Amino acid sequence: MRTAYWHCLDLDASRWDQVGRWLEELTEMLASPPAMAEVAFCRLAASAAEIAEAVLQSPVTASEPFRATVMLLRQKVAPLGRCMPMMVCCRPDSIPARTARCESLLAQWGYCCLGLSVLYKLDNKWILWHEALHLFGVNDCYDNDNPQGPTICELPHCLMQYAPSDATIGAEPFLCSRTIKALRGRGT
Ligand SMILES: [Zn+2]
Ligand SMILES: [Zn+2]
Repeated sequence: MRTAYWHCLDLDASRWDQVGRWLEELTEMLASPPAMAEVAFCRLAASAAEIAEAVLQSPVTASEPFRATVMLLRQKVAPLGRCMPMMVCCRPDSIPARTARCESLLAQWGYCCLGLSVLYKLDNKWILWHEALHLFGVNDCYDNDNPQGPTICELPHCLMQYAPSDATIGAEPFLCSRTIKALRGRGT
């Protein structure tokens, strides 16, 4: 079983509920065919969350590169020292969202690096799922030089396309073979 943590930064209770439901739905979907992958999303406990929030809103996060935030979270938030993957859902104007956008022009809705996923497009389940899969070593299926172009895997509707949405995923299969392979990959 591979575990990732999640936390909502400065969001209201209905948003917390929605993120929790979407991650539960993702867990069930991944445990079923075709993926058959055992993953779990665990809400960061209150004491750890308090420390994580202080890091995420600190001047270091605001002014240093994204990896400085990752290093601080690992040092200060005990559960993350042992198992780093974590998703932070936050508003687009929050400090971690701004730091993430500084890292890449492609990070319009979310960004993941070194086991920390920051998500700031909060009304699209597919983008939340996409960023969540990065936590388990799944790579993007788009060409960085042509993000809106065709996917680089066998599925035109792959979840790991640049900007998945109801319109681009539809009822088609959306977990490609390389995504499934990564999900079944390393155990912890
Ligand atoms: Zn991605
Ligand atoms: Zn793919």
